[in-house]
Amino acid sequence: MADEQRPTGRKTKKGVPAPASLNPRLKRQRKQAWGLQDYVSGIRSGDRVALAKAITLTESQRAQHRQLAQEIIGICLPDSGKSVRIGITGTPGVGKSTFIEAFGQHLIDQGRRVAVLAVDPSSQVSRGSILGDKTRMELLSRREEAFIRPSPAGDSLGGVARKTREAIILCEAAGYDTIIVETVGVGQSETAVHSMTDFFLLLLLPGAGDELQGIKRGIVEMADLAVVNKADGDRLKLAKQAKQEYRNALHLLPPKDSGWAARVEICSATTGMGIAEVWKDVQAYCRQAQDNGYFRRNRQNQARYWLHETIRQELQQQFFQHPEVQQLLPGLEQAVTNGQQSSFMAAEKLLRVFLNTDKEV
Ligand code: GDP
Repeated sequence: MADEQRPTGRKTKKGVPAPASLNPRLKRQRKQAWGLQDYVSGIRSGDRVALAKAITLTESQRAQHRQLAQEIIGICLPDSGKSVRIGITGTPGVGKSTFIEAFGQHLIDQGRRVAVLAVDPSSQVSRGSILGDKTRMELLSRREEAFIRPSPAGDSLGGVARKTREAIILCEAAGYDTIIVETVGVGQSETAVHSMTDFFLLLLLPGAGDELQGIKRGIVEMADLAVVNKADGDRLKLAKQAKQEYRNALHLLPPKDSGWAARVEICSATTGMGIAEVWKDVQAYCRQAQDNGYFRRNRQNQARYWLHETIRQELQQQFFQHPEVQQLLPGLEQAVTNGQQSSFMAAEKLLRVFLNTDKEV
């Protein structure tokens, strides 16, 4: 087709030849899908659009996208790992986003590049996500050196966690040297975030003397640093008291494998007081853990853990998607509920069907 006969989308008069396209390449550029190399070179050059698109691929339901995502991750893997990964948790309203907004900007002022990711299981339970709905971290998101990504959605915490781990690799390959993974005190999400980060920070409120009891003991045990936020105005005094109480409580916990003794700080995310100290603590931890070898060992353990975890999840998913299992499961559930069949026998029956074997499992 001759150029002037091509529909251009612009109005033309009959008999008057259509003007040349303003950008003849535009149409072709739009149509061309990104290839593996486009993603990889984009990520390596620190292009946030390429990074965001690659993360979207990891979150896609389409097998073709997931396959491409795996190829990108595979190539990016050697460029990853050179970062400090910080997990942050705390109940809704404690000030996580305000803290990350201030902390992230402080880090950028120190010459760092900061990626903020989130693991929010509520985003899959209901449409209302605890971490995602608000306009969050406005100032930080405007900084060139920041990349902020809301929690992936998914039908299981395992799936969300896997996607976040993949996003960590991609962010690191894009040159982000500080990865913040935020989560909220719901279910098992803290454990998942703890097992993908180097340093775990627990945000607390001032004045809540027995608040520590309200937070699950396991979460407190994971903390490398507890920070009493909102230490400003009338609450400064309360925050200082809380700091002392938390310090006493943390002393009672068993020592950590890292050899690091958990610290307590106070800060105000709104005034910025104490933010620099938090970063100093993270750096002190990294120095110590790198010197005693824990930093590397921990990451190796985490890589192994996620290998096993991914196998478990994948098998589980395949099991429940197996047509015969799907057909038999409701009846067996009924039989187990009515006491006609033991849970173990029913499970064995289903596993045999899944594995297509007559052997005992
Ligand atoms: P999140 O739900 O944990 O992310 O908490 P937000 O960051 O959304 O903060 C909840 C509320 O606490 C908001 O109204 C913040 O302005 C306020 N807030 C957060 N940090 C501070 C602080 O350091 N001091 C004071 N006074 N208010 C704060």
